[in-house]
Amino acid sequence: MNSRSHLLVMKFGGTSMGSSARIEVAARLTMEQHAKRPVAIVVSAMSKITDLLLDTLRQAEEGDEAGVDASLKTLTERHLACCRELLPEGFQEGARDGVGGLLGEFARIARGVLMLGERPLASVDRAVAIGERLSALLMAAYLQSQGTTAAAVNAAQVIATDDVFGNATPLLEETRERAAVVLGPLLDRRVVPVVTGFNAATLDGRPTTLGRGGSDFSAAILAASLDAEELWIWTDVDGIMTGDPRLVPDARVLDEITYNEAAELAYAGAKVLHPRTLAPLIDRQIPVWSKNSFAPEKPGTRIVAQLGRGAEVAGGPHAVTSMAEVALVAIEPAGLALSGSTLRGTRLMAEALEALDSAGVELLAITSSSYRQSFCFLVRQSELKAALEHLEETFALELTHGYMKPVQVDTEVGLIAVVGEGMRGTPGMAGRIFTAISRHNINIIAIAQGSSELTIAIVVHREGLERAVRAVHEECGMGVAQGHALS
Ligand code: ADP
Ligand code: ASP
Ligand code: MG
Repeated sequence: MNSRSHLLVMKFGGTSMGSSARIEVAARLTMEQHAKRPVAIVVSAMSKITDLLLDTLRQAEEGDEAGVDASLKTLTERHLACCRELLPEGFQEGARDGVGGLLGEFARIARGVLMLGERPLASVDRAVAIGERLSALLMAAYLQSQGTTAAAVNAAQVIATDDVFGNATPLLEETRERAAVVLGPLLDRRVVPVVTGFNAATLDGRPTTLGRGGSDFSAAILAASLDAEELWIWTDVDGIMTGDPRLVPDARVLDEITYNEAAELAYAGAKVLHPRTLAPLIDRQIPVWSKNSFAPEKPGTRIVAQLGRGAEVAGGPHAVTSMAEVALVAIEPAGLALSGSTLRGTRLMAEALEALDSAGVELLAITSSSYRQSFCFLVRQSELKAALEHLEETFALELTHGYMKPVQVDTEVGLIAVVGEGMRGTPGMAGRIFTAISRHNINIIAIAQGSSELTIAIVVHREGLERAVRAVHEECGMGVAQGHALS
């Protein structure tokens, strides 16, 4: 057997790496699989560490030296405690030195930010990657101590990206070449590569990150680059569920879900997967499993190109998700647009979309009214400022001359997305969903349904968002009590 065929890539998230006890479990799961086939793993930082690293840099920017010192102390204590608890005597010293070195590197960047009074994005990416470098170091040391040859690998050596710091996009061809050079020889020697999730680097070596929650994406990029047989994403719930279990108490674990459905769910806020995770895997049709490291005996959810094995083959919506931190932006010409007028709706829309594209803003939903030639779209609140700046710049003339109404913004809104391949052949489903929401006296502000009929996106008043999610979940019979989705 070729050392790289049948490769399994496994990713352990923050809670699965959150303590010495959790790292032991993750290592056991790794060793179990490694006894059967080649394995490469991708690890997140220990839970809450990325937040703490980012907070420390914020404190530094604000000149809060005492705060920075306190945070550095917490970071050191948590990782040294983990070293102590996890590693046998002979392995402690080396790991402690490694932890000291990495946290020293972080402290130098934090002190630089303190001195400058500003936090350049590139320095933030360099600093925040240290969370994953620490957890990879601990995991590799523990595997070694248990007799499994392992090597911590900084993904900056493997995943090449553009230079959009904080939300970089991988360059897949270059990454494939690097993965072959850096990880190939390790796999050939049956060494388990323990690769840092979340971080990467530009072609000229400047550190980048893939966006919050990006370790899922890292694992998918590596699985695609190494032509893995499967990707297993270990997290803290039993798989991908019909709704966010924190919002929907009777949410049910799905046996199977398609790449398209999972991608729509992730894109519309289901935190269980980073929104871009599935893109690199679809072409190569690499199956993905979402599994619970707290209950590894459970099967989890299989993400595949086409449903076939599970009960969800039945039509109907399969899952519902929501996003709270969004804003609805409305654009409208000042008068009714007549054909041939200076400001036709289509041109307005085309220019607005171009402005948003150049601002790097992602549109979550868009609806338009053809008579008034007005339209509105939904964006993340974190991207609102950039969106408005670019729109106002693009339409400076129209706004000054009153050809266009001032751009309206509503941040008291939330997005619900109802997802399911099965909805295509389910007439009347949209009507039932809207009625269920209205029955709870929740105002529907906008509705969008793509031509694929894979997702119905509904914008509601923020205050009713959680209730609306539960209402839709119940109406569609997605929950545990009701059994399977309705057809
Ligand atoms: P990790 O640290 O392993 O990457 P995350 O916290 O990023 O884990 O994602 C797992 C969490 O996603 C779960 O604990 C759950 O609260 C949340 N979640 C939101 N929507 C869903 C869903 N539809 N199915 C499963 N989990 C969901
Ligand atoms: N540690 C990173 C974060 O918290 C990446 C991840 O966990 O996926 O965002
Ligand atoms: Mg995550």
